[in-house]
Amino acid sequence: MSKLVSDLMAKVKAKNPAEPEFHQAVQEVVESLAPVLEKHPEYGAAKILERIVEPERVFMFRVPWVDDRGGVQVNRGFRIQMNSAIGPYKGGLRFHPSVNLGILKFLAFEQVFKNSLTTLPMGGGKGGSDFDPKGKSDNEVMAFCQSFMSELFRHIGNDTDVPAGDIGVGGREIGFLFGMYKKLRNEFTGVLTGKGLNWGGSLIRPEATGYGAVYFAEEMLGTRKDSLKGKTCLVSGSGNVAQYTVEKLNQLGAKVVTLSDSSGFVYDADGITAEKLAFAMELKNVKRGRIKEYADKFKGVTFTAADPKADHNPLWSVKAQCAFPSATQNEINGKDATNLVKNGIIAVSEGANMPSNPDAVGIFVEKKVLYGPGKAANAGGVATSGLEMSQNSMRLAWSREEVDQRLHGIMKSIHKSCVEAAKEYGTPGNYVNGANIAGFLKVANAMMDHGIV
Ligand code: NDP
Repeated sequence: MSKLVSDLMAKVKAKNPAEPEFHQAVQEVVESLAPVLEKHPEYGAAKILERIVEPERVFMFRVPWVDDRGGVQVNRGFRIQMNSAIGPYKGGLRFHPSVNLGILKFLAFEQVFKNSLTTLPMGGGKGGSDFDPKGKSDNEVMAFCQSFMSELFRHIGNDTDVPAGDIGVGGREIGFLFGMYKKLRNEFTGVLTGKGLNWGGSLIRPEATGYGAVYFAEEMLGTRKDSLKGKTCLVSGSGNVAQYTVEKLNQLGAKVVTLSDSSGFVYDADGITAEKLAFAMELKNVKRGRIKEYADKFKGVTFTAADPKADHNPLWSVKAQCAFPSATQNEINGKDATNLVKNGIIAVSEGANMPSNPDAVGIFVEKKVLYGPGKAANAGGVATSGLEMSQNSMRLAWSREEVDQRLHGIMKSIHKSCVEAAKEYGTPGNYVNGANIAGFLKVANAMMDHGIV
């Protein structure tokens, strides 16, 4: 580790104790940036790095609500406004019991570079709550969302901060949040993205993150004159990102053999066809059931329960050429990465945010796996949120084909920026460095232009 990196990390750890995911995300970016800072001492003099790791603003608030039995529940809400150098804060809301300040700061930090890569004018933010939507009635989810928005509405706005979905926040939650915002503000604006189609949403937004991760994989494979056609693929998760990753992979002639949730994974050697995917989508989005029911429904499918004590996840030991981690952070460790490599993995395109831990990233890079880090590979979601904002501002709606074409174009452009930046700074083919450097430069230059603010 260079002195620059170790000095900065010592400060970040001292100032932000007990936030390991935030430290991990910062360290990965700062390691990539060493050659940039050498070439541009002006960034050092302006303390760009020290400023970029410090959120512009953090809100933390009480979210009280009443459950169906009349009991009072109390959750904690957050919004991290990380960086607005190139546009209004933009980033999702996560509702999951694991949510805490450090996890949201890591996500907000990643979001700054990701949004910069999209070519659209969006700053970075993230928010959420430790609320667990699992097992709650629609009424309880609504009560929670309304209470959450009754504080958040003061801090967001279509030119200030535009939240969207993430884990545990899909169309249902965005609807309840938007309804409450509209009531409190008495205005109909594009303050949230991921909205319903008949009240300002964009076609292709639900599909965008998954489709984008697949487009990114196709671009990476293209650099080796290869494609997804005929490839066996692993997908983890079974939520929004995982579902549309499977859909696009099927369309491009690949075969997906796994899906998972926090209770375990299913292995379907015959492939998750469009019909089987429709079952999984109904199971997850409407019935809100567990992925095990997929194995109960279809012949020849096995279910392996998650073992929290195990030192690896057996999903990543299934033989395949491409992997699309689409569940959560740090779901692939060094042992998992070794298993993937042993089985001949060619490409890993991250639908989730930071799903590979540092050991796993090191192995992918060393073994020359085509490794697309989340901040590049899953940027299609926020990019299409940016397109939703544009449509809202213009008060018109583009066709499905038009949005998909723009999404595809953006993913190609992100891929190109990563490849070029990696090459220019001496590590050709390294998408981690490429994404971090290309994302950083645009934000850093804007910060230089704005003075010390
Ligand atoms: P969903 O809530 O729709 O689905 C999440 C899936 O991941 C579920 O299958 C869930 O299982 C599983 N999961 C969540 N937490 C864990 C955990 N701790 N251990 C094991 N499995 C877990 O979320 P999304 O699909 O929207 O998000 C998935 C990933 O993609 C996240 O990392 C998110 O940050 C990232 N992402 C999402 C974007 C979007 O547009 N939605 C954009 C860019 C990135 P279970 O139901 O059991 O909890």
